[in-house]
Amino acid sequence: MNKYDAIIIGTGQAGPSLAARFATAGMTVAIIERHKFGGTCVNTGCIPTKTMVASAYAAHVARRGALYGFAVGGDVRVDMKRVKARKDEVSGRSNKGVEEWLRGLNNCRVIQGHARFQSSHTIVVNDEVLQADKIFINIGGRASVPAMPGIGEVPFLTNSSMMEVDFLPEHLVVVGGSYIGLEFAQMYRRFGSEVTIVEMGPRLIGREDKDISQAVREIVENEGIRIRLNAKCISLAKRDGGVAVHTECDDGPPDVLGSHVLLAVGRIPNTHDLGLDRAGIATDERGYIVVDDQLQTKVPGIWALGDCNGRGAFTHTSYNDYEIVADNLFNADHRRVSDRIQAYALYIDPPLGRCGMSDAEIRKSGRPALIAKYPMVRVSRAFEKGETQGFIKICIDAETKQILGAAILGTGGDEVIHVLLDVMYAKAPYTVIQRAMHIHPTVAEYLPTVLSKLEPFA
Ligand SMILES: Cc1cc2nc3c(=O)[nH]c(=O)nc-3n(C[C@H](O)[C@H](O)[C@H](O)COP(=O)(O)OP(=O)(O)OC[C@H]3O[C@@H](n4cnc5c(N)ncnc54)[C@H](O)[C@@H]3O)c2cc1C
Repeated sequence: MNKYDAIIIGTGQAGPSLAARFATAGMTVAIIERHKFGGTCVNTGCIPTKTMVASAYAAHVARRGALYGFAVGGDVRVDMKRVKARKDEVSGRSNKGVEEWLRGLNNCRVIQGHARFQSSHTIVVNDEVLQADKIFINIGGRASVPAMPGIGEVPFLTNSSMMEVDFLPEHLVVVGGSYIGLEFAQMYRRFGSEVTIVEMGPRLIGREDKDISQAVREIVENEGIRIRLNAKCISLAKRDGGVAVHTECDDGPPDVLGSHVLLAVGRIPNTHDLGLDRAGIATDERGYIVVDDQLQTKVPGIWALGDCNGRGAFTHTSYNDYEIVADNLFNADHRRVSDRIQAYALYIDPPLGRCGMSDAEIRKSGRPALIAKYPMVRVSRAFEKGETQGFIKICIDAETKQILGAAILGTGGDEVIHVLLDVMYAKAPYTVIQRAMHIHPTVAEYLPTVLSKLEPFA
């Protein structure tokens, strides 16, 4: 049996950094990957999609050339083979970088294969048994494929198989109007496809506040994306060489006919084939590994990090999991998941940057709050760039004057939100931002103006 100081399963956003931490501290570590180094973000998630979002943005700007004073000499046509090649190049560089980094570490053994628990502290991979007192699970998740009628008869795409598409679907039907679905929908519309979003709920991105859902809807509809809400009992069928997505929507004909269908209806953790029961590791009713505030499972010496623990579904939450675990182990720190503030972005164009509580969460908390909302059309940087869609919204605790939550849907929103996020981490009052001198012309320079418009939260 091979004994190590630590075994890490999965090379997502937490595992590789943790392996490096152990290895550079002079401890032995084995890290196991069954598929592609770097996991979801690197191969089928953030990096490839944001690379493609950039291609789509370039095409969009080119089509709007007349507004900026130039002509492109004919229709803007997107060469999907070149879009994919660019995406593969960017994504491949990161994938290779992770693998080379891990293989170059002293004290670190890299194993390719599917890991399974044999007992609480033994792992089997490629018929080899490995043992360690400390085991870290960073196995991520995958696209959920619900058992909807017709799913077995019709070819469908997920975020993973979308990465192999090197042609322009004539009409892409995106089932799921949330974060991943919206990004693909706008991207493919800008590449030149007809796009219809079919969403089961009464509005897009149902987890966001209604005003955000509505503004996002207007943004994508303005680009010609069709939206079907309240789609009940979705089923798929082959039709005229393409796909019919049956929706039973409140309005419009019940079938949406498309050439291709993308399922973007959520993600599930990769916990089903890891032998967790043999280790005595508990999962919740949705399959997420149950962890405490320091990411330890109920079994001593076993931690779960990243998407598989249900405490976050982002690259930054997975990497933050690594930082929490590593600081607690190596620096005798007491970092906790509950110390972090919710923050994320939706990468449509313009992007949505979000931090802290939503309006609904504030309302539920019963805290006395103040709110200010400001349209991007009044932000000079936005109209100089010709990108005036969206708004800035900030909520403040009326007693402590600290920021409770914010949303910036607009040009630069994914970056500017960090001004507010960092002040939240500093637990400083919003007046710090109000008195700061910001650079002109930026979106951030408007934050003091927005904060001067605070009024009671309805
Ligand atoms: C389309 C899309 C876009 C996204 N965009 C963003 C974004 O813009 N920003 C953001 O923050 N997040 C984004 N995300 C989410 C982000 O990709 C994930 O949250 C992030 O990758 C964290 O994953 P992880 O560390 O939990 O594990 P993962 O990156 O999923 O990696 C887990 C690894 O474990 C391996 N593995 C699983 N089981 C085993 C086993 N039994 N044995 C061996 N190896 C195993 C897998 O092969 C995989 O390589 C996006 C996701 C998708 C799908």
